[in-house]
Amino acid sequence: MNRFRLSLFVALAVLIGAFFAFDLQRFFTLDTLNAQQAAIEAYRGAHPAMAAAIYAVIYVAVTGLSLPGAAVLTLAGGAIFGLFWGTVIVSFASTIGATLAFLAARFLFRDAVKARFGDRLQAIDAGVARDGAFYLFTLRLVPVFPFFVINLVLGLTAMPARTFYWVSQVGMLAGTIVYVNAGTQLAKIESLSGILSPGLLISFALLGLFPLLARWLVDAIKARKVYGRWERPRRFDRNLVVIGAGSAGLVTAYIAAAVKAKVTLIEKHRMGGDCLNTGCVPSKALIRTAKLLSHIRRAPEFGVRQAQAKFHFADAMERVQRVIRTVAPHDSVERYTQLGVEVIEGEAKIVSPWSVEVKTSEGIQTLSTRSIVIAAGARPFVPPIPGLEEVGYLTSDTVWDLRALPKRLVVLGGGPIGCELAQVFVRLGSHVTQFEMLPRLLINEDQEASEAVMGRFREEGIDVRVEHRAKRVMVEAGEKILIAEHQGAEVRIPFDELLIAVGRIANTEGYGLDDLGIPTTKSRTIETNGFLQTIYPNIYACGDVAGPFQFTHTAAHQAWYAAVNALFGTLRKYRADYSAIPWATFTDPEVARVGLNEQEARGRGIPYEVARYDIDDLDRAIADGEAHGFVKVLTVPGKDRILGVTIVGEHAGDLIAEFVLAMKHGIGLNKVLGTIHIYPTLAEANKYAAGVWKRAHAPEKLLGWVERFHAWRRG
Ligand SMILES: Cc1cc2nc3c(=O)[nH]c(=O)nc-3n(C[C@H](O)[C@H](O)[C@H](O)COP(=O)(O)OP(=O)(O)OC[C@H]3O[C@@H](n4cnc5c(N)ncnc54)[C@H](O)[C@@H]3O)c2cc1C
Repeated sequence: MNRFRLSLFVALAVLIGAFFAFDLQRFFTLDTLNAQQAAIEAYRGAHPAMAAAIYAVIYVAVTGLSLPGAAVLTLAGGAIFGLFWGTVIVSFASTIGATLAFLAARFLFRDAVKARFGDRLQAIDAGVARDGAFYLFTLRLVPVFPFFVINLVLGLTAMPARTFYWVSQVGMLAGTIVYVNAGTQLAKIESLSGILSPGLLISFALLGLFPLLARWLVDAIKARKVYGRWERPRRFDRNLVVIGAGSAGLVTAYIAAAVKAKVTLIEKHRMGGDCLNTGCVPSKALIRTAKLLSHIRRAPEFGVRQAQAKFHFADAMERVQRVIRTVAPHDSVERYTQLGVEVIEGEAKIVSPWSVEVKTSEGIQTLSTRSIVIAAGARPFVPPIPGLEEVGYLTSDTVWDLRALPKRLVVLGGGPIGCELAQVFVRLGSHVTQFEMLPRLLINEDQEASEAVMGRFREEGIDVRVEHRAKRVMVEAGEKILIAEHQGAEVRIPFDELLIAVGRIANTEGYGLDDLGIPTTKSRTIETNGFLQTIYPNIYACGDVAGPFQFTHTAAHQAWYAAVNALFGTLRKYRADYSAIPWATFTDPEVARVGLNEQEARGRGIPYEVARYDIDDLDRAIADGEAHGFVKVLTVPGKDRILGVTIVGEHAGDLIAEFVLAMKHGIGLNKVLGTIHIYPTLAEANKYAAGVWKRAHAPEKLLGWVERFHAWRRG
């Protein structure tokens, strides 16, 4: 807390403390009010404006400091100023007081809450931005909710003060009138609880329900509008149709079959989608060969004077295909059929919210279904660089068809796919030039992680060109050339093959989204809500086609929500939980992450501390000849709560799992430190990072006393 905040906190605490210490509450009782009514009225008769001002100031102070007494003060307003002026003064004073309490809570505590609950608060803020005014209005209408709690809690959220003010003023008006009106008959009131008769309370509750009912109605009208032009079948042949048999579609269909739904999975190309055929599986298989070659090159480091590899690129690429064939049965038509999924190999098109047309070699059939899950994936994005089509290029879809190692390979793109493949090819023996238009590779990762990867890439011979923008490609004197721009100058790089890896774009065309009017987002993925529903509540999307993540494990994670919501959403819907999403880039060194990194924390204004452990100090890493990299843990200042972790080094993608579990289940660094880790393993790095944190938070004062205690015991 800075000094101004602290002073304000102390001042407010003193005022509130004084109120109770001097028992000022006694002035805000019905008895005092009745006893003083004549004197107060006499004063108001003589000084009406001053009386109104004093009354308003007291009202603002009581509500602003969240003190008890607002109800009696409101009655007093009616008794002293009558229904009209009483209502006007109370309405403004109560709203101003409530807004001051709201602002005080925000100023004093929001940063601390943000630091403690950063990610969760972000989700709450998003909810408040969407529905906050709505719910505040409801809460204000029903005067049974303690207003001071509402003021303080909403102050901790990102609701704009203006919204809070006007919604409060309008929402509290009905309750204010009832109390002020009761105040005009003060003598007849025996207790505060008598003012709100059960009938009146029910009326308020109904009033409070009104916005919710209105919302429900608006949603129903909206749904009617989107469904309006379609004829709903009386019955459905299936509970669920899933479009696309990649990671997202397979898991969706699996879950649906497991809960005994009638589900049809449609795939137009290859079962297993990108991950199996052109993504994770082939890339990791080729990374294995490349790593073996890199180890053979490092043989002398391990005491092997000479080791040579007789390497044939085509053999390595054939092994990749063998690996794919070995894994393929997991995703096969046979397996899914056995699991109870109807699999159709054909091209799907959504023709109405409840029917999907499938084009197969045998013709076209139309399936009727209660719900649809779109899991159509993504494809490599190819930027409009002049000359590309004429010169030719590879993408992550086609690179697996190569059987001759390119002598000179240009990799366009410094993201995870570009980096993994650039390193693979340099290790296999290509001369690799990698272009990235931003200032560093892996721009979304921690700066030090990028630097570690770039450093290693350069050591291994990759010509890394950052801040280079590809302008065009051409053939000159029989040679393929890429022209790029770097700091205003033109750079020419000759090449044999060009691999484009500048990102992936969701497959949103050609299967009916336009006809149904299903919108896409700015990043060109299908627009869904938190439950993964499109504008048609029975049509869902998950995986790469829905974003925002593009990983197999996030596709599978979303698939659970899509399947469960699609099948049981009328009973209960689940909002997709993105609280602890991990990922890894399988370069050497590997880069793995969960939660925030430093640049994101700074960008979002979230305060953090860093505990960093350098893996070059770790026994196992030294023994393995892999003594490099680090574990960097971001925590809430002064607490062991983890905000995010970046690990760079050997098997970082495996090591991060411990922190994913910790973040998901709210386990702090103290508990990680108190857990036995096997010696000697790389996983010990996690414990040592927790140890770094612990040492930085050692209770120095207490240890000073303990030292004295030991000295005393020694006599
Ligand atoms: C080189 C590379 C390496 C990768 N490495 C990793 C990694 O190490 N770890 C990781 O987590 N992720 C990795 N990924 C990402 C991962 O592959 C994807 O995130 C994942 O495959 C997405 O799954 P999906 O089901 O959303 O889409 P996809 O796997 O693309 O599946 C979509 C399927 O839908 C089908 N389809 C589309 N339209 C229709 C239609 N109209 N009718 C019928 N079928 C249709 C397509 O044919 C496709 O099979 C990598 C990707 C690439 C390219």
